[in-house]
Amino acid sequence: MSHYWDVACLDCDDELGLRVNKDPKGVARLVATAPSLAVLGESWPNIHIDVYESFLLSPETGIIPAGWFARHKGHRLVVRDEYNGVYGDCNEWGEGGEGGWDFICRLPKGHLGDHVFSKRK
Ligand SMILES: [Zn+2]
Ligand SMILES: [Zn+2]
Repeated sequence: MSHYWDVACLDCDDELGLRVNKDPKGVARLVATAPSLAVLGESWPNIHIDVYESFLLSPETGIIPAGWFARHKGHRLVVRDEYNGVYGDCNEWGEGGEGGWDFICRLPKGHLGDHVFSKRK
């Protein structure tokens, strides 16, 4: 089963467009360098960085624009999966109204006490 991860900005609800299968730690390393990429992107908005070999991606999804990081400078960037789960969060799903699994727990992974569900999106 595939499980795709991407960089997402929580402030803008925008995604970078990576589709990294099963490797959130690698994507987290990219998020950790986001401030440097933002500085690069401010000077050179059209520079593209080749990460596809690092993540075994296709060239179409593995060439990332430094300008994206400049646009989201200082924003809350997270590693998010295709189900709207955030890396490091509990990510337990909860059943909402109408029987849909529309809710997700945003507390830290391994938290104590009950899950606290909020709308998935
Ligand atoms: Zn943003
Ligand atoms: Zn939870």
